[in-house]
Amino acid sequence: MTMEILEEARRTPVLGEYEVVVLGGGPAGIAAAAAAGRAGRRTVLVERYGFLGGAGTAAGLANFCGLHAKVHGEHRQVVRGIADEVLSRLKALNGLAAPHMLFGGKIQAQAYDISAYKIAADELLASSNVKLLFHALAVGATADALLIETKSGRRALRGRIFIDCSGDGDLAAWRGAPYEVGDGKGNMLYPSTMYRIGGVDPQKAGNAWERIAQLMEEAEAKGRRFPRKKPIVRPQPNPVEWRANLTQIRNPDGSAVSGIDARQLAWGEREGRRQVWDTFQFIRETAPGFERAYIADIAPQIGIRETRRVKGEYMLTEDDVLDCADFRDAIGVNGWPVEDHVAGSVEFRFQRNDRGYNQLPYRMIVPAGVDNLLVAGRCASMTHGGQSAARVSGPCFVMGQAAGTAAHLALKTRSRLSTLDVAMLQAQLKNQGAWLG
Ligand SMILES: Cc1cc2nc3c(=O)[nH]c(=O)nc-3n(C[C@H](O)[C@H](O)[C@H](O)COP(=O)(O)OP(=O)(O)OC[C@H]3O[C@@H](n4cnc5c(N)ncnc54)[C@H](O)[C@@H]3O)c2cc1C
Repeated sequence: MTMEILEEARRTPVLGEYEVVVLGGGPAGIAAAAAAGRAGRRTVLVERYGFLGGAGTAAGLANFCGLHAKVHGEHRQVVRGIADEVLSRLKALNGLAAPHMLFGGKIQAQAYDISAYKIAADELLASSNVKLLFHALAVGATADALLIETKSGRRALRGRIFIDCSGDGDLAAWRGAPYEVGDGKGNMLYPSTMYRIGGVDPQKAGNAWERIAQLMEEAEAKGRRFPRKKPIVRPQPNPVEWRANLTQIRNPDGSAVSGIDARQLAWGEREGRRQVWDTFQFIRETAPGFERAYIADIAPQIGIRETRRVKGEYMLTEDDVLDCADFRDAIGVNGWPVEDHVAGSVEFRFQRNDRGYNQLPYRMIVPAGVDNLLVAGRCASMTHGGQSAARVSGPCFVMGQAAGTAAHLALKTRSRLSTLDVAMLQAQLKNQGAWLG
């Protein structure tokens, strides 16, 4: 029997009226709000935490994937536009490392300092004329308003176009957009709790990322158990600090902890910290250069890779990624391979085509059946396999910038988002420095 209580109907004060309301301050939300704000649209960004960056800060990623691709044998930055500005602001704050090689030279990623990212994102949005509403948890929606809970109480934000960059597709789900969860067999990509290790001796540690993986394998052969294989432990811009991405957060029945299940999230946070402590002890005890190391930070929240994927006019598939697909309505590109977090391990599947990147179609950010809404970032319209690649920061910046620009153009030309003149959108994105492939 379901227990329910009946809440009284209430009147909700309107906190503000905007042309574009963006939910979520991750890479997708940052780029969406910046693009809309710069186009002169009255824009607000709603974020439940007190800082921007999304999983990049709140889940402690500290590293950009998907900005680069190996194009016919040559490593290149392929995501351009607002992402360039994030990088240059990080560089000016001394918070960006040079791109580093992964998987034996197959692809590059780029580490950043988390505090610098929070500041760079604040400044980027302030200079783009975006109103930031921190500490505001979105809890519902009507066709023309987003409902939020704040320390001042429940409020509404009126808008003309909404962009769901919540990662979980919260807003799209409230508006009745269709969505999928997981791999169709009852599981999702497994989450991880990230942490950063301080006090490393960089000279002594050297290429410790190789050594640590080896040490873990050797220990496993002797019966020690770790949450997952293929640990990623790499230096940050200041090499006394390293990030550790090696936990895997499972429910007691072995399934992936769900980022849209309150009880599972509560369990996952504790289980994540337990795994952090256990794996850190191992690294400190065994890895050269880590003898005096300490945990500098356990990420504020468990890192969720996949929840709702909102179904749009087109769903990006794993084959699109592996075959480097092109689309006539391209808004930018993704160079990241498929990174499938399965029970106990991570499986990487690389592009079958030497070009090394796929285009991303505008149709993947247009949800089916809801008029004044776009969905950008890891909850956009992708299959489980497609999302396993195009959920990382690079393509999220691409989708966000296109969504903010499309919102502006739809308002300007009084068009519906689903029938927007894509050639006009593409021209505008190119003018902003984006690269469409
Ligand atoms: C453990 C882990 C490691 C990863 N490693 C990397 C990596 O090294 N490099 C990389 O590029 N990518 C990595 N990723 C992928 C990463 O999730 C994506 O790159 C990216 O952060 C997704 O961007 P987004 O903008 O779609 O959503 P998110 O970054 O998840 O941002 C969503 C934002 O919306 C806010 N929000 C959500 N719901 C609400 C609500 N109801 N009300 C108010 N605010 C809300 C959240 O607080 C958050 O700030 C990793 C992911 C995980 C989980």
